[in-house]
Amino acid sequence: MQVEEYLSAETLQARVRELAAEIERDFPDPDEPLLLVGVLKGACLFLADIVRAINRSVEIDFVAISSYGAATTTSGEVRILKDLDAAVHGKHVIIVEDILDTGLTLRFSYLIEALKARHAASVRVCVLLDKPSRRRVDLHADYRGFEIPDAFVVGYGMDYAEKYRNLPYVGILKLEAPE
Ligand code: 5GP
Repeated sequence: MQVEEYLSAETLQARVRELAAEIERDFPDPDEPLLLVGVLKGACLFLADIVRAINRSVEIDFVAISSYGAATTTSGEVRILKDLDAAVHGKHVIIVEDILDTGLTLRFSYLIEALKARHAASVRVCVLLDKPSRRRVDLHADYRGFEIPDAFVVGYGMDYAEKYRNLPYVGILKLEAPE
């Protein structure tokens, strides 16, 4: 299997700084608590970089979510495997996700509703990569790093069978043709 570089580390870092600036602009009041919630594991590097580029106080937390069955099923049933540690009451929450693909996992419309039910002041979604051609539910991100074509990507936190998460760039995984 081969990985072909698609978004370089420099390209990623430049866009992350722009997204951080957008978030700063949207939440100018330093007294308004801001909480970024990373969706494990794919968003961990993106979250780590974006919080370091945000020039105001910000809390971080993580959730782990799993879909039942194949990720491509239409049921899109989701389970929260690891809940937030932090209280969200009165905080502006931004869910940070690696990829918005079909939208079925991000159908934490469920997670969004749960955060609203816990009285978050607001809930937004920030994704590094968006594959709009694959979307099956009506969902769009408030902050979006890059729109990408329908390809399987790895690196910068994203895996194939738990490999490649540590690549500093985003690459397209090329499956070798059978002999
Ligand atoms: P969705 O529910 O939007 O279909 O799925 C989003 C999740 O599927 C992402 O958070 C990610 O974990 C996984 N995913 C979707 N496309 C890719 C891809 O190209 N590469 C990797 N590594 N994961 C993907």
